[in-house]
Amino acid sequence: MITFDFEYYRPDSADQAVQLWNQLNQTGKKPLYYGGGTEIISMGRMDNISAGAVIDIKGIPDCHRLEIKGDHLIVGAGVTMTQIHESNIFPLLALAGARVADHTIQNKITLGGNLCSTIIYREALLPLLLADADIIIAGPGGQKTLPVNKVFNQRMQLNPGEFIIQIKVLRPFLSYPHIHVKRTRQDKITYPLVTICAMQVDQQVRVACSGVCDFPFRSEPMEKELNNSSLPLEKRVDNAINATPAAIPDNFEGSAAYRRFILKNLLTSIVNELGDKDASIVE
Ligand SMILES: Cc1cc2nc3c(=O)[nH]c(=O)nc-3n(C[C@H](O)[C@H](O)[C@H](O)COP(=O)(O)OP(=O)(O)OC[C@H]3O[C@@H](n4cnc5c(N)ncnc54)[C@H](O)[C@@H]3O)c2cc1C
Repeated sequence: MITFDFEYYRPDSADQAVQLWNQLNQTGKKPLYYGGGTEIISMGRMDNISAGAVIDIKGIPDCHRLEIKGDHLIVGAGVTMTQIHESNIFPLLALAGARVADHTIQNKITLGGNLCSTIIYREALLPLLLADADIIIAGPGGQKTLPVNKVFNQRMQLNPGEFIIQIKVLRPFLSYPHIHVKRTRQDKITYPLVTICAMQVDQQVRVACSGVCDFPFRSEPMEKELNNSSLPLEKRVDNAINATPAAIPDNFEGSAAYRRFILKNLLTSIVNELGDKDASIVE
């Protein structure tokens, strides 16, 4: 049961959504944008969040786009993990989305919700980091488009009242050779000990990880080490692991040593597969 009452709004344009947010915020309602609602509802049931109003973005047509337009793939923030997976329009994102939660919840979880989640894993972000995606944001200052690595720094850096409308990815990134691997403690459907997405771009390997630190990341220092072909592979991988952007977690789900062990094995396989300039798509 949710112990607080809240108002529900379903605007049909981004401007209306922002206007509503302003009005509700001024009256002290602490409004939240609402995607699939899975996190808002589960955290609301546990009294970990409260809101006087939610603004459902799923009534906004731009938030439902899932199409190639000119040189770009456009994915609306309200598109679900299932829709992304079933369309297979961006195969690496499809693979990542298909391993977020289970199939029933994937029908609800939206791309925007996963990126703005308070749960630290945000696995759908990884392909976007590799593909230099742009994030289209609406807010009290109007709409803007920013590169994902400028908006995401440990978490989405959105200003009050802002929400994600769409994600844009340049078409060539949709078909570069890629790998997705998720390793969990035991069950297939749970949070990751280590998830890695990797992509070969201009004969260089790119990697982005979730579970390895307390936030998902793509690390250029790690990639520099992995692509340093003057060193033996084992040394490159060890150097890359020493270049993670923060400490590797050591908790009841898995020790830091175990996570390092998994990471070492996965990075070695990835460089073996994708470091080969003739690599084909690997799923
Ligand atoms: C059972 C379960 C299993 C899970 N397993 C995984 C997993 O394996 N891997 C993983 O990465 N995640 C996992 N998650 C986390 C899940 O991806 C997040 O909770 C995500 O936020 C849910 O998306 P949603 O669309 O339902 O978000 P909502 O509940 O609608 O919103 C979540 C947060 O994001 C904000 N938000 C939503 N949409 C937008 C937007 N367009 N712009 C700005 N802010 C927005 C909301 O205001 C709220 O703060 C799991 C969650 C559950 C409930």
